[in-house]
Amino acid sequence: MRPLLDETVERLFRLVEEEGKENKLVSSELMSLLHCVFGDTLLSAFNLIDQGSITCCVTLNGRYLYKVSGSAGRSYHCPSTLSFCPCRSFTFGVLRRCELIMCKHLLAIHIGKALHCLPDTSVTDEEYDLMLYEQ
Ligand SMILES: [Zn+2]
Repeated sequence: MRPLLDETVERLFRLVEEEGKENKLVSSELMSLLHCVFGDTLLSAFNLIDQGSITCCVTLNGRYLYKVSGSAGRSYHCPSTLSFCPCRSFTFGVLRRCELIMCKHLLAIHIGKALHCLPDTSVTDEEYDLMLYEQ
């Protein structure tokens, strides 16, 4: 548990949301702050957003997860809680070595959510279950 770090990150994402309300852009000052916290993961995350690699997959009853198409052709499915990503960076960089706060996939989802620029797509319950458990 990292309450001070988690609160700082939450505040940064709230600032992104406030700045992005009007034009879906982030100021250079806020980009500098984000880079101080996330380092080079930030650029990779913005690349995922710019390439349209993230989709919010929603079922009819409102369950949802995020699908991120990775650069190597693999897709990563992240639960709506954004507490986990099945990629190697999350396993090794975040969980084992504690070198990263989050992987580029989760960071991209957080920023994309804050900027309201992630498209939704409908999926069936079966498709949702498959995406959630096939990792
Ligand atoms: Zn990841």
